[in-house]
Amino acid sequence: MSRYSFLSLIANALNGQTGWAPAWRDAAPKPDYDVIIVGGGGHGLATAYYLAKEHGIRNVAVLEKGHIGSGNAGRNTTIIRSNYLLPGNEPFYEWSMKLWEGLEQDLNYNAMVSQRGIINLFHSDAQRDAYARRGNAMRLAGADSELLDREQVRALCPFLDFDNSRFPIKGGLMQARAGTARHDAVVWGYARGADRLGVDIVQNCEVTGFIRDGDAVVGVETTRGAIRAKKVGLAVAGSTSRVVKSLGLRLPIESHALQAFVSEGLKPLVPGVITFGMGHFYVSQSDKGGLVFGGDIDGYNSYAQRGNLPVVEDVAEGGMAVMPLIGRLRMLRAWGGLVDMSMDGSPIIDVGPLPGLYLNSAWNYGGFKATPASGWCFAHTIAKGVAHQLNAAFRLDRFRSGHVIDEKGVGAQPNLH
Ligand SMILES: Cc1cc2nc3c(=O)[nH]c(=O)nc-3n(C[C@H](O)[C@H](O)[C@H](O)COP(=O)(O)OP(=O)(O)OC[C@H]3O[C@@H](n4cnc5c(N)ncnc54)[C@H](O)[C@@H]3O)c2cc1C
Repeated sequence: MSRYSFLSLIANALNGQTGWAPAWRDAAPKPDYDVIIVGGGGHGLATAYYLAKEHGIRNVAVLEKGHIGSGNAGRNTTIIRSNYLLPGNEPFYEWSMKLWEGLEQDLNYNAMVSQRGIINLFHSDAQRDAYARRGNAMRLAGADSELLDREQVRALCPFLDFDNSRFPIKGGLMQARAGTARHDAVVWGYARGADRLGVDIVQNCEVTGFIRDGDAVVGVETTRGAIRAKKVGLAVAGSTSRVVKSLGLRLPIESHALQAFVSEGLKPLVPGVITFGMGHFYVSQSDKGGLVFGGDIDGYNSYAQRGNLPVVEDVAEGGMAVMPLIGRLRMLRAWGGLVDMSMDGSPIIDVGPLPGLYLNSAWNYGGFKATPASGWCFAHTIAKGVAHQLNAAFRLDRFRSGHVIDEKGVGAQPNLH
């Protein structure tokens, strides 16, 4: 498969764009593999890529029930950042930022990684203190952060409502290296990269059950037949609880719908990503000009990839509180994705809970930004049989041992995260 380059662009421009090879093979499943990854979203494909690239394990299949990118990988609002507080989280997300920064060169693919910055607005003195603490934690982990006062935020975002009587803006925590990436391109880039290293990407292949040898998982049953493997890694995002049900497992996660919204196109207005500090609302502007925004998960559990109206109202209220001009815009599209929420709001990347089975789950709001580090750490965990120190805290048994990573400080209540 040819590398993309300036010369290949010129050559194909001259021959009517007829010389491009498919970005990856549409592989048929083989009877057995060293590793099967279930789920062809960003996390599954990144895992396969790093298994091949970092660990030389190339007899790998990624099994996807639809087409790659048809899950959350193609439904999220594309924000990447590493502005976390707790030691279990921050080094992991900062490693992800570092991988994002070199991703396009590594994959030889334009993922439109755009480090346009994020500002978390604060509206009270107590919130300023909390954000100062978060910024310090970020710096200790090697990330960048800057506490902006009200006038610094106003200079960057004059369109915000600074004098809202309930939520006056007092400043913001800025991470300049944060931003957005083109979600489809991330999936396509990892698919192409994994394929180039020999990984089979098998689409339209749903895993319907597991092949067992005693307790151990030694393969999967699929809509395209049984496939055996020494190791099976699950990266099925919001479907995890459904997929493990046939193994008799019940995990500490719940599935919820999460919605996103896009407005009509505007001239360049929003410089980066902006989040409201007193409710759940965030906004950025796409390269086509539309404002992209979202907020909370739906309050009830669901496997439906669409949302409900109370959340639409809540997101609109948050938007109007911080950015009243949104009320003048026409909305073009809204859609929902299916996220899995753990009881402390943090992910699970772990060995087990059965021999031969590996778990990558519970990404809820934040899994897109985690894609590179999640794949990198999950590949390490599968290849070596133990977690890397970057994902050592993302254990499944933390809910039994009490070592939870309660980043948002709301306890074991998934719909509050
Ligand atoms: C509206 C919305 C906005 C979001 N915004 C952001 C954001 O701005 N920043 C951020 O960091 N995160 C965001 N997220 C979260 C992020 O999208 C997810 O956490 C992340 O994409 C999950 O990992 P994934 O990409 O591998 O999942 P997916 O893309 O969902 O991949 C899982 C795949 O598994 C497949 N699958 C399921 N069951 C089976 C089966 N039985 N057999 C085979 N395949 C199966 C699915 O079809 C799917 O393709 C958002 C999510 C949503 C829904």
